[in-house]
Amino acid sequence: MLDERIEEAVRTLENPEIAEFRAEGGRAIGFFCSYVPEELLNVDGLTSFRMRSIGCHSTEVADGCMGLFNCSYTRHCLEQGMEGEYGFLDGFVFVPGCDHMRRLYDNWAHFVKPEFLALVDMPHLRDEDALKWYRDEIEVLWNKLTDKFSLSDGRDAVWEGIRRTNRARQLLEELDRQRWLDTPRLSGRQVQEISLFAASVPKERAIPVLEELNEEVKEQSLTEPYRARVLVVGAHLDDPGFIDVLEDTGALVVRDAYCCGLRDQLDPVDDSDDKADPFEAIARRYLDRLSCPRMYGDYPRRLQKITRMAEEARVDGIILEQLKFCETWGIDGNVLMNDLKDRGFPILKLEREYLVSAKGQIRTRVQAFLESMGK
Ligand code: SF4
Repeated sequence: MLDERIEEAVRTLENPEIAEFRAEGGRAIGFFCSYVPEELLNVDGLTSFRMRSIGCHSTEVADGCMGLFNCSYTRHCLEQGMEGEYGFLDGFVFVPGCDHMRRLYDNWAHFVKPEFLALVDMPHLRDEDALKWYRDEIEVLWNKLTDKFSLSDGRDAVWEGIRRTNRARQLLEELDRQRWLDTPRLSGRQVQEISLFAASVPKERAIPVLEELNEEVKEQSLTEPYRARVLVVGAHLDDPGFIDVLEDTGALVVRDAYCCGLRDQLDPVDDSDDKADPFEAIARRYLDRLSCPRMYGDYPRRLQKITRMAEEARVDGIILEQLKFCETWGIDGNVLMNDLKDRGFPILKLEREYLVSAKGQIRTRVQAFLESMGK
């Protein structure tokens, strides 16, 4: 059983930590897409909130605005945005990570009309020109934030946001390692909840909880038997219910590389020299981390990183999950599946909706997958 503060932050949108932070004069900024430079949203006076939708069981209105062939993550968020469910946030930052996200941004501007709304343009390549372009986009966002929220606009303030975000990442990385030990100390569901907590509350409130947890975990190990160790890779996933179905069937998620999971929360910004250009340091971190398939020409590096993650965690198999209509992961997923198979990994590909449905079908597919591995 995890700390009640973690459980509450996972099952609600507005959590007590954000409410307290705002009551003390802080401002909370929701962000879509893992290429939003979160460090700028964790400076003094601001806190970041990774956008997700909870408790929304119909997208009737959003479907009328966005169309049914957009991924259900974007439609669920728009539905709740139009219902005013994100009123506890003081602004939103988007990266047009894919066409669906771009469409959501247009609808957000038109229907949600927030006080503060910014779009950070993101290159599709990883070369020096792309680095320079993205670095400049990050500085543009910084100027908009300092103007709107009267932040101290010095580079020291940016470095403070970097260090704070790095500290949370470091603690999450340590917890992650406890999960892929030979005798795991945490389940995939627990790590997902911890990662969602860290992405939903102010870092300065998350860090002491993560430090405490790191100590506690060293004294425990999982008691639930499991049949196989798996790595989960894929599109936006923030519903613990999906990981539950996998783990209830015996597939323990010992590592993850999915959007809105630990893939986005590891890899610190290089903060070894705070006289350096903080915007370039941030840009380099996002271009160097395990990339999203939206990044062109980076597939070999992505394949290499995912292969290494699977080997380090000694997984028995890999589960590729993607949201319906998500062509970004749809295309990459097919190529990835074949190449990982060629590297000897048993692979299961699952297409899903944003909110877990058809649990029985998923369970049957996972069951067959485990049997095919002799587990
Ligand atoms: S899940 Fe896919 S379609 Fe949806 S926002 Fe992410 S990349 Fe875009």
